[in-house]
Amino acid sequence: MNTFDNYINGEWVASAHTSKNINPSDITDVVGEYAQADAEQVNNAVAAAKAAQPAWGASTPQQRFDVLDFIGSEILARKDELGRLLSREEGKTLPEGIGEVVRAGNIFKFFAAEALRVGGEHIPSVRPGIEIDTMRESLGVVGLITPWNFPMAIPSWKVAPALAFGNAVLLKPAELAPACSWNLAEIISRSGLPKGVFNLVMGKGSAVGNTIVNHPDVAGVSFTGSVEVGRTLAANLAKRLARVQLEMGGKNPLVVLDDADLNVAVNAAINGAFFSTGQRCTASSRLVVTEGIHDRFVQAMVERMKALKVDDALAPGTDIGPVIDGAQFMKDESYIELARREGGKLAFGGERLKREKNGWYLAPALFTETTNTMRFNCEEAFGPLAGVIRVKNYDEALAVANDTEFGLCAGICTTSLKHATHFKRNAQAGMVMVNLPTAGVDYHVPFGGRKGSSYGTREQGSYAKEFYTVVKTCYVAAG
Ligand code: NAD
Repeated sequence: MNTFDNYINGEWVASAHTSKNINPSDITDVVGEYAQADAEQVNNAVAAAKAAQPAWGASTPQQRFDVLDFIGSEILARKDELGRLLSREEGKTLPEGIGEVVRAGNIFKFFAAEALRVGGEHIPSVRPGIEIDTMRESLGVVGLITPWNFPMAIPSWKVAPALAFGNAVLLKPAELAPACSWNLAEIISRSGLPKGVFNLVMGKGSAVGNTIVNHPDVAGVSFTGSVEVGRTLAANLAKRLARVQLEMGGKNPLVVLDDADLNVAVNAAINGAFFSTGQRCTASSRLVVTEGIHDRFVQAMVERMKALKVDDALAPGTDIGPVIDGAQFMKDESYIELARREGGKLAFGGERLKREKNGWYLAPALFTETTNTMRFNCEEAFGPLAGVIRVKNYDEALAVANDTEFGLCAGICTTSLKHATHFKRNAQAGMVMVNLPTAGVDYHVPFGGRKGSSYGTREQGSYAKEFYTVVKTCYVAAG
């Protein structure tokens, strides 16, 4: 069995304990044993990062560009191999796995160039003889805590801007899918980045994550994960006035209006609700459909769902891979049961599927006759499950779409410019999609939500620097 160590202060460091990374498509296949850092190792990583950060923070934009460009180029060159590994450890299909790796490579390329663009402003003073300049400095040592569902892209969209803006990093990936982060660390170890600037500390959130969050030398934490963990983490970071950025869950609405192109709407709903096994924070789990198109939409959805192939993530032709593990599978089943108890009608799916390999295969489930107040439509299940909510007209659809404690993404399928424009302006979400699935975003623009979905500044695109830099305003008496 292959064992994969942590990366601390430029060295590969073994731990007393390891954890098995299991392929959800075939639970007899162990991807590897991954080291579980103890508190002393995390503290060593923080100390190494603290020592290395000032020199990296003072490095030239060219040095940072070269390191990030190297990382991005290697990720892109190895997209097939890394995409296969991603699909094996996480269970999304191979095309989805390769697509995520390409996205990660592009993110590093984007932030390589962002390192060249860190500028400031020159502002005339309101007082005579004084010049004002603003500049951006690195935040310092940052903790990056990531979930399992995008094991390559999310670590990349945090590590790349952190390094581009001169910070030192502790990356703590999710226990269920650490292989992509380990490979990212291995590439970084050969990128020319000075030792100590990047550290990989794998292990449990309650141990490794908690030590990072409460360490006085960690200046900020960027977290992606569940709302429950995010809330606790933010409260702990606030106590010591450290910077925090949270990207959390969603219960994203996809509105389908009577005037929608049925094919466009069904494509958006199938992709948004069920692809990547519904394990996306941007998944379309609430399908809000006006009554004139409702029955045709449901019938077309069921026809499409019958044709979806749920199987081994790596098998050619698979549309939907397995659920990540047994615990998430049981959670999905409990929400299916809940929807039934609450009066939802199962239009298709929801049962465990037997396949050649022993994996966590679940037929995607569509419930009709659901209402927006059912718990099924209020809580994030994080599986291939969706509820159809019938509404009278656009006004009711918008009200239902916004009636949620989340606000990550909202979508609408319509051929009406008037409704599309109104929805763009009035949907209470960080991202809005028109005639597109709620999931599937570009790598060079801001990503994030409102209300219970996000807290703090936006990730990605040029907005990423708001978290990873500190602004300094300098006044000079000119003479
Ligand atoms: P999770 O909250 O269980 O874990 C996320 C990370 O936090 C993991 O690395 C975990 O080890 C760590 N962690 C857990 N407890 C901790 C603690 N006490 N202190 C510090 N760290 C701790 O989430 P998950 O199950 O890995 O991922 C699924 C969740 O992530 C879903 O809710 C999903 O919506 C969300 N998600 C959000 C986005 C987004 O950008 N909004 C993207 C992907 C996933």
